[in-house]
Amino acid sequence: MIPGIYIHIPFCLSKCGYCDFYSVTSTEKIPRFVEALLREAEMYRGSFSRSDTLYLGGGTPSLLSPEQLALILKVMHELFLSSSDTEVTIEANPGDMNRTLADSLFISGINRISLGVQSFDDNILSFLGRRHSSADAISAIEDARSAGFENIGLDLIYGVPGQSMESWTNTLRRALSFQPEHLSCYQLTIEPSTPLGKRYQTGEIAGPDEDLLYDFFMRTSELLEDSGYTHYEVSNFARNPSFMSRHNRKYWNHTPYIGLGPAAHSFSGNRRWWNYRSVEDYIDRIGRGFPPIERSEILNMEQRRLEALYLGLRTRMGIDLRDFSERYAFDLLEEKREILTIMQDEGLITIDDNHIRPTRRGLAMADSLALI
Ligand code: SF4
Repeated sequence: MIPGIYIHIPFCLSKCGYCDFYSVTSTEKIPRFVEALLREAEMYRGSFSRSDTLYLGGGTPSLLSPEQLALILKVMHELFLSSSDTEVTIEANPGDMNRTLADSLFISGINRISLGVQSFDDNILSFLGRRHSSADAISAIEDARSAGFENIGLDLIYGVPGQSMESWTNTLRRALSFQPEHLSCYQLTIEPSTPLGKRYQTGEIAGPDEDLLYDFFMRTSELLEDSGYTHYEVSNFARNPSFMSRHNRKYWNHTPYIGLGPAAHSFSGNRRWWNYRSVEDYIDRIGRGFPPIERSEILNMEQRRLEALYLGLRTRMGIDLRDFSERYAFDLLEEKREILTIMQDEGLITIDDNHIRPTRRGLAMADSLALI
């Protein structure tokens, strides 16, 4: 299995009210972070086979200068990436995007851009604490397209308190009008530690209505599939199969990956480890010549099997029963026949001779499916 490389860029100009990802709003440490990142990458030299995906996420990778990004890419190519057909993705904030930035990203070899649009409704953007407007999102998409990007993904959020089905449907239709190659439609999760979570705990805002969330999910899937997109994972849609995220599929099928940067996670097949969730600790550890790893864990066969079940049932490809049996020494069909038959009768999964696949309704309840 060809591994993936993830880089976490832990800087944002401001924090969105719902965000639980690790990032800091002071950008002064970016130069020292980049130095540390390149040294961390060097620590992995030769330990993984060549990769065909690189994903720059965050945080806000588009805050790095073109020179910093070019340097990172150069080192990644030298150390990890295969010479051709590599999927190189960057997450970008529409508030940062302009034609000059889009050109420099494209020229540096990035071939896939994921824009954090979230909504085309300015009231929703303001509620979420985003620093861009719907007009910024539109010009960001246009800039990316005119710079030459042929693989553009838009991230959108539904289930925002106060969001109507009409507002969400308008956002989807607006997104479709740009014919993006990829759409990620995430249900808002209210994390307790975030400003939004605090407002929820004090009762200032209402929590999500489960029935409405289900309706949002079904509307999204129906509308996008009717528009020609493949709903290939709970939250992800591709305009055709070649635009499914190659990198994210590695997470879903237990392919190894290296995560570089603060708070980044890595996985070797049976071991997972993660870095310090602090830019300062990260830079300090590397400066003293140590890997910035905070902790690691070994996953036993049972844990890997349960994860594979959970992740597999979140994808339309589902679970390949022969492969599952070989990898996890477990005959799923034999061991879980009764519950699988009930799920099949309820229209949540289909079972053919070698696959269990969730239906659209099954994807809507993917977390419950994994409890079999
Ligand atoms: S820009 Fe992204 S990573 Fe940064 S605070 Fe907002 S949601 Fe979080």
